[in-house]
Amino acid sequence: MTSPSSPTSDSAAVDDRCARCLLRACLCAGVPVVAARTRVVIVRHPAERHRSSNSGRLAHLALTNSVLVEYRAPMPELDGAWLLYPEGPPCLAAPEPPPRQLVVLDGTWSQARRMFRKLAPLRGLPILRLPEGARAPRMREAPSPDRVSTIEAIARALRVLEGDGVATPLEELFALAVARAAASGRTIAAGPAAPVT
Ligand SMILES: [Zn+2]
Repeated sequence: MTSPSSPTSDSAAVDDRCARCLLRACLCAGVPVVAARTRVVIVRHPAERHRSSNSGRLAHLALTNSVLVEYRAPMPELDGAWLLYPEGPPCLAAPEPPPRQLVVLDGTWSQARRMFRKLAPLRGLPILRLPEGARAPRMREAPSPDRVSTIEAIARALRVLEGDGVATPLEELFALAVARAAASGRTIAAGPAAPVT
């Protein structure tokens, strides 16, 4: 039975990352359980799927009331949904009635813009634009000041909608991920210096 020289599952062996959080220094044990009222629908660009710096995955792991949808896969029912998108006036307080769902486009800014243009179910959804907020170190450079990482964007939107109780654990998780990435030698780009419009 034993064949010491035979490789054991080559495809898995080339990658020593955790299959769940995709980080070498697994942080699954540090993922909080965040029960938000607002259902968060994360629409993920295919390029994000295997990137360890993808923070939408982390948000989904933490948020019990969330769903991760691949771009071009069938969208769930979007009743009562708002789209988190950097367009229009910033949302300083929860709209009335509050969104039942929040759609978040997970990708770079140009990927998100493309998804927004191409996904017909998103057309006509009311848009929630983030207010200005403090910027934290990030796992990857954001292309513009109000375009923060996906998990930060979700945290800030949920802070507006539901308060700190749901936002802070997500921000702490992101900080943990940034620290782990830094510890494993990954470059952490500083946040943009320009003020938020
Ligand atoms: Zn893990």
